[in-house]
Amino acid sequence: MIKHIINGQHVESEDVFESINPATGKVIAEVASGGQKEVDSAVAAAKAAFPAWSTMPAKERSKIMHNVGDLITKHVPELAEMETNDCGQVISQTLKSLIPRSANNFHYFAEIAEHMHGESYDSDTGHLNYTMQKPAGVCALISPWNVPFMTATWKTGPCLALGNTAVMKMSELSPMTVTRLGELMREAGVPDGVFNIVHGFGQQAGEPLVSHPDVRAISFTGSTPTGNRIIRSAGLKKYSMELGGKSPFIIFDDADYERALDAALFMIFSNNGQRCTAGSRIIVQSTIYDKFVADYVDRAAKLTIGDPLNPNTIIGPMISKAHQNKVMSYIEAGQKEGARLVLGGGTPQLDDKFKNGFWVEPTVFADVDNKMSIAQDEIFGPVPCIIPFKTEEEALQIANDTPYGLSSYLWTENTGRVLRLSKAIDAGMTFVNSQNVRDLRQPFGGTKGSGTGREGNHYSFDVFCELKNVAISYGDHRIPRWGV
Ligand code: NAD
Repeated sequence: MIKHIINGQHVESEDVFESINPATGKVIAEVASGGQKEVDSAVAAAKAAFPAWSTMPAKERSKIMHNVGDLITKHVPELAEMETNDCGQVISQTLKSLIPRSANNFHYFAEIAEHMHGESYDSDTGHLNYTMQKPAGVCALISPWNVPFMTATWKTGPCLALGNTAVMKMSELSPMTVTRLGELMREAGVPDGVFNIVHGFGQQAGEPLVSHPDVRAISFTGSTPTGNRIIRSAGLKKYSMELGGKSPFIIFDDADYERALDAALFMIFSNNGQRCTAGSRIIVQSTIYDKFVADYVDRAAKLTIGDPLNPNTIIGPMISKAHQNKVMSYIEAGQKEGARLVLGGGTPQLDDKFKNGFWVEPTVFADVDNKMSIAQDEIFGPVPCIIPFKTEEEALQIANDTPYGLSSYLWTENTGRVLRLSKAIDAGMTFVNSQNVRDLRQPFGGTKGSGTGREGNHYSFDVFCELKNVAISYGDHRIPRWGV
């Protein structure tokens, strides 16, 4: 049984739900399903732990955060396998990249928090002004299922290192590794109550958490509709919203063709297409369009789909039956809307062991019109749309014709065009001649329907800290003497 972690204790609930391995459709664990009661005790524990944690010398807190990072590194194989079983991400990604990188979310923010400092200046009004970043207080951390451990640590690292305490609600579809994180935190020396986990569903556990009056800040990663709902329920709180995407991947005919092709495949088929930053709209110049579609399909057809625990597998399952159905319904819609289905479109033939899993074949649509629903909506599966364009102006118009603005990818050797388009594309991030390569110093986040706020580096202060200004008079500035 996967339990909540509240005030350092494993806590059960009367209600439970099942966690399912999406590759096999089999139940792998029962999970405690929390609600208002569990949220109230977790927030109370976090509130009680806040004074001691937030005033602990930064060096001591930083040492504990480094311990958490070291313990993650020590447990990489265990965590990677658990993550793969819980959410279907292939083992080559969890073992080699996602789990090892998660340790850095603690090491990096431990350093930032230990060495942070404010500004000071003498004003002409006769005051010394100085600023300080104070921890916001109890934070609600809400995470989706697509990269659960990475997202949990991406939030928890800065949140705790900066002196806050937290209540995390992981997605009900991926509860396992975050629970191990809670246990490793305890082993690392994180005091009871500093990091709490309440498992459960959005409505029952998420809503009471975001609307709780003692919660001061919310770091949310998830879909755009849920983000909008949380903003309405939360009332006046600090928040950052990391939401959905439909990122353009633009390839001009002067690009390094082979590298662009590699990146275009990677940016939609990695993590089974369940990636917020997926380059899901591949916008290709007409001069190279036919060759590109043929080469792309040829390569995509060779991607190994199947057992996520096999180190050679590239494509795993969708997270759930409901999500598989959603992706399949977009494949149907794309065909009805007149896009050309050039690869896949069904479910793969796999070993019997996987017959009840939630699979979708790598599927490619060509000749997509950007107005179609498959180009406008976030499908969140292995289903790229290839869209032709003729001119730079048209490429930009298509790129920006979307409700989202998370990431974008630009492939060209023309420097002027790089400068023009990377400025004009309406998105939080543009990668030029590259796939999405994360660095913790980058500000991560999006525009429009992809969210608000940035996290990473000192940008994380905006959600996890209150910026305070102190103005101290030198004692001789003029004060109006009224009524004398
Ligand atoms: P979701 O919005 O359905 O759920 C996300 C989390 O919110 C879950 O923990 C869920 O239980 C919780 N939740 C649901 N309703 C809630 C409510 N009313 N109040 C509080 N919490 C509530 O998203 P999902 O399907 O789990 O994740 C996929 C989405 O996440 C995609 O849109 C993807 O693009 C996005 N995502 C964004 C980023 C980013 O950094 N921008 C990263 C990963 C995923």
